[in-house]
Amino acid sequence: MKTLSTFLIMLLSVSAFSSPQTQALTQPEATSETGFKYLTEQFSDAKILRYRVPGFENLSLDQKALIYYLSQAALCGRDIIYDQNCKSNLLIRTAMEGIYSSYRGDRNSDEFSIFVVYLKRIWFSNGIHHHYSTDKFIPDFSKTYFATLIKGTPVESLPLAKGQSKEQLLEELIPLVFDAQVAPKRVSLDPSKDLILSSSSNFYEGVTQKEAEDFYASMKKDAKLKKTDTLISFGLNSKLVKENGKIVEKTYKVGGLYSAAIEQIVNWLEKAMTVAENPEQRDVIRKLISYYRSGSLVTWDEYSIAWVKDIKSKVDFVNGFVEVYGDPMAMKGSWESIVNFKDEEATKRTEILSRNAQYFEDISPIAPAFKKSKVVGVSAKVIIAAQLGGDSDPTTAIGINLPNAPWIRKEYGSKSVTIDNITEAYDKASQGNGFLEEFACSPAEIERASAYGRLAGSLTTDIHECLGHGSGQLMKGVTGDALKSYHSTIEEARADLFALYFIKDPVLEKFGLVPNDEVAMAEYDSYIRNGLMTQLVRIQPGKTIEESHMRDRALIAHWVYEQGKEKKVIEKVIRDGKTYFKVSDYKALRTLFGDLLRIVQRITSEGDYAAAKELVEKYAVQVDQELHREVLGRYKKLNIAPYAGFINPQYRVVENGEKIMDVTIEYPEDFATQMITYSKKYSFLPVR
Ligand code: ZN
Repeated sequence: MKTLSTFLIMLLSVSAFSSPQTQALTQPEATSETGFKYLTEQFSDAKILRYRVPGFENLSLDQKALIYYLSQAALCGRDIIYDQNCKSNLLIRTAMEGIYSSYRGDRNSDEFSIFVVYLKRIWFSNGIHHHYSTDKFIPDFSKTYFATLIKGTPVESLPLAKGQSKEQLLEELIPLVFDAQVAPKRVSLDPSKDLILSSSSNFYEGVTQKEAEDFYASMKKDAKLKKTDTLISFGLNSKLVKENGKIVEKTYKVGGLYSAAIEQIVNWLEKAMTVAENPEQRDVIRKLISYYRSGSLVTWDEYSIAWVKDIKSKVDFVNGFVEVYGDPMAMKGSWESIVNFKDEEATKRTEILSRNAQYFEDISPIAPAFKKSKVVGVSAKVIIAAQLGGDSDPTTAIGINLPNAPWIRKEYGSKSVTIDNITEAYDKASQGNGFLEEFACSPAEIERASAYGRLAGSLTTDIHECLGHGSGQLMKGVTGDALKSYHSTIEEARADLFALYFIKDPVLEKFGLVPNDEVAMAEYDSYIRNGLMTQLVRIQPGKTIEESHMRDRALIAHWVYEQGKEKKVIEKVIRDGKTYFKVSDYKALRTLFGDLLRIVQRITSEGDYAAAKELVEKYAVQVDQELHREVLGRYKKLNIAPYAGFINPQYRVVENGEKIMDVTIEYPEDFATQMITYSKKYSFLPVR
């Protein structure tokens, strides 16, 4: 599970839903005191940031080499996420990159720069659907211009099928690129439709929702009968397809689907094994390789357990088919990788939380039957990201809690991380853009946010990840996928509520984690402001809320607002025609967070699909049209972009023969250069 940035992402600068052309910077370039340039460029609703990797130079040579090898493994899976996101992504990306690199016509025209923005958006989203809304985006250049581009690009730079002419390629691409009705949405969560057929992600082919549900239900039944492992994450690493009328799984593995990319990943993992920090870590990598070779989900679980247990190593990584947000059925894992190392100083904060995990579980407001009597090893650390890959690149979470398998979490615990250097980049690139001043209700709120906002945000993420997701337990017989399309929203709400409830617990001050109660107040201000109002800036006019984390925040904010209405816990203030939300009773608000946590935990523990549906549909989906219009109008005036992606640092190896003498780090200057380099070096999959 992952946490996306809320507070920080909202503060980023540059305009939303503006002209797609690359804009001149409207704000001073975000640079640090040390002169490091975080913000490199912006286009459409996105901006690109670089992140520092502080402390890399102090690592041992083996640790540096380990990071280098793992970073290569992270890059080798890049094509996989494109293909998982949509079947035509690799073809479209390759065609566009061919044009970008080799078009012989006028490359300085406005039209060409509009074309470049479209390509950058593809890179930004790993495909033709918006990374967040999952709606397909359509280029702002014309079909005629596209024909000109194809015509002016040499054949050897285009992904022509055997015997295909440029004209035929154009015919193939035009509906995929320009027709809004073709593959309209990557992940559709509309329960009135067949979730699989209405989604364009590439996890199923020729299979309906009902067929997929039946397929996995019978697979689970089979496992029970044969007494094989019934706890594995069925379907996690495969595509489900119908072949000759029969439904079969195509497993992602060496020799299976995505073999060419997975073989490369394995090669680099083998090198990584030679410089592992200790036998435990070597065993983790060995198990991962074995899983990639066999495709066995039993081995995947063995790997996950070994990975959770490895808490000694300084360098760590995620690499695999992990998160299920990209699948409307929440079964199929999107490929991702994050290579990182521990920030020892900042980790002291999360260690206090995880050391006291049982204490928090015991006093949490959920029903006793749903509590874990023994919270196992919730290990938490603050990390420095060294490489993002796959689904985590270029946009990334700021907090991660893995593994996802509920039974492993229950028996072995989970590893929870907060990514500090990514948060830092967000923060540095966003200072002073006027967002807070526009939407906060009072000067006191602004002051509180300035003084404690970053700490409040980090601490909430810490609690969300290292206590929230790990808390509670499922009743016997309830499986992790019982809530289907509502699973992710309910799960995120559960973790958020745990964090919101405990950030105001006096014990945090006793533990030395917060200086005073204002930290919790700052978090409550910002959470309510965001959930009721400001997160709407990420929604296009007329659309509903779909992304799980946004639904989670809307659910919580609307629920507590409604429940506390009579006692005026949260007040709606209209001033000079502008709407504000003001928390009037922080103590009562905390009680309400606890009440909702109890409800959401019951739904999770019992797998109560009907109750999950009711709660989410009532509070988390619909948008107040009038307020939405107002918020978008106020936001537009600020010229702020709601999304940020990242440029990875580049690692250079200094070699003496076969032997690595040093690994140095460079920070590339621009997004396109990095993306083109990646496509040249790490394209292993067929485009069709
Ligand atoms: Zn989460």
